[in-house]
Amino acid sequence: MIDFSIPADLAAERDRVRQFVIDKIVPYERDPRVTSHGPDDELRQELVELARAEKLLTVQAPVELGGLGLTHVEQAVLYEAAGWSTLGPVAMNCAAPDEGNMFLLSKVADARQIDRYLMPVITGHQRSVFAMTEPGGAGSDPGQLATTATFDGENFTVNGRKWLITGANGAKTWIIMARLEANPHLPEGPTLFLTEGDAVPDSASAGPSVVTQAAASGPDAPAGGIVIERTMNTMDRNYVGGHGVVRFENLTLPRESVLGETGQALRYAQLRLAPARLTHCMRWLGAAERAQSIAVEHARTRTAFGKPIGEHEGVSFLLADNEIALHQCRLTIWHACWLMDNGHKARHESSIAKSSVSEELFKVADRCVQVLGGIGISDETVVEMIFRDMRAFRLYDGPTEVHKWAIGRHVLRG
Ligand SMILES: Cc1cc2nc3c(=O)[nH]c(=O)nc-3n(C[C@H](O)[C@H](O)[C@H](O)COP(=O)(O)OP(=O)(O)OC[C@H]3O[C@@H](n4cnc5c(N)ncnc54)[C@H](O)[C@@H]3O)c2cc1C
Repeated sequence: MIDFSIPADLAAERDRVRQFVIDKIVPYERDPRVTSHGPDDELRQELVELARAEKLLTVQAPVELGGLGLTHVEQAVLYEAAGWSTLGPVAMNCAAPDEGNMFLLSKVADARQIDRYLMPVITGHQRSVFAMTEPGGAGSDPGQLATTATFDGENFTVNGRKWLITGANGAKTWIIMARLEANPHLPEGPTLFLTEGDAVPDSASAGPSVVTQAAASGPDAPAGGIVIERTMNTMDRNYVGGHGVVRFENLTLPRESVLGETGQALRYAQLRLAPARLTHCMRWLGAAERAQSIAVEHARTRTAFGKPIGEHEGVSFLLADNEIALHQCRLTIWHACWLMDNGHKARHESSIAKSSVSEELFKVADRCVQVLGGIGISDETVVEMIFRDMRAFRLYDGPTEVHKWAIGRHVLRG
């Protein structure tokens, strides 16, 4: 039976999340600790403690790891509510990249790795990164991975350079993708490594900041170096730590640092990507609704040519197009989630969702800017920030064109 109703307990939790975000989190949106490189770690910790006090922290985690073990559809309902403010998911510890990393680690990490690397992220005490994209080519096409790992039978040595690595500055749990070169001990190919880093605070003037090896300890502590060259200046500012350019310089890792099996990184990345691209859709849906609510209020109260602007058909059609898009996006997300909850990989449907939702929500944000007139491009409201931040959504976790390319191949295969 197809059922679109939201159970009463889930609806109550959704309302609680929405109210929490409006009452406790929205007031932080103008906090100076929301920097051009995203909220800083001090602010993040403060927000996390607010969510913890309300028992709203990391609710998506599996029950055995302390969460509520939400289904994908349940996540869709709650993340949409959390997304009302871009700081909502940060507070509730369901923002990227931690959310996707937690999902991946809960599926692939062994018991020791869960204890050491995943639990501190789940409890909100530590942040994580997923380091895959490279300036040399590995982006949409991870097959071009140029970061290498060699293995001498005891230790791995990783060398290479990455960019656009979200949260690199300040993260402690590092998932690094590197190509394991041929060796007599282990299967070669793209491999995920899990290690600990302890980055020093970013300082624009201080030049490259090196992950301090001294602070890392234990069997997986890197003996070589992770160098954060810089934090990139980007259009968006909703991700904690911004996006880093990172270099691995003879980073030495023990055998236990392999996540899962060697040579399987691309398979694990896919495992992470399908749900992760949907959770982006869920959070941005909440943000787009916020933008629409501001535009609607403006259309009701701002007058032009003798009546509220919303009564001019041109403006009401913009709002109507938004309403249609928001509804269609929600249904598209729910359907892909429902498939995953019913045991399907939903790769095709999650590609459809990611490409269409990112494009449509960006148009929603753009129309909201238009309805607001001149103030739409100012920071008098959060609409400007939502519009700017949402631009990147059409690129990460698969640019629209790449998803369409995959959808096209699927269609042609019949
Ligand atoms: C805000 C943000 C955060 C990010 N965070 C991370 C992170 O934490 N970790 C990480 O590893 N990476 C991260 N990334 C990188 C992201 O995964 C890549 O940007 C994305 O995979 C696209 O790769 P690229 O940037 O190298 O673009 P490219 O792959 O070079 O693509 C450039 C253009 O070519 C198009 N194109 C490519 N292939 C095809 C095709 N087959 N058909 C049609 N068009 C095609 C693309 O659509 C795009 O328009 C982040 C990116 C952004 C913007």
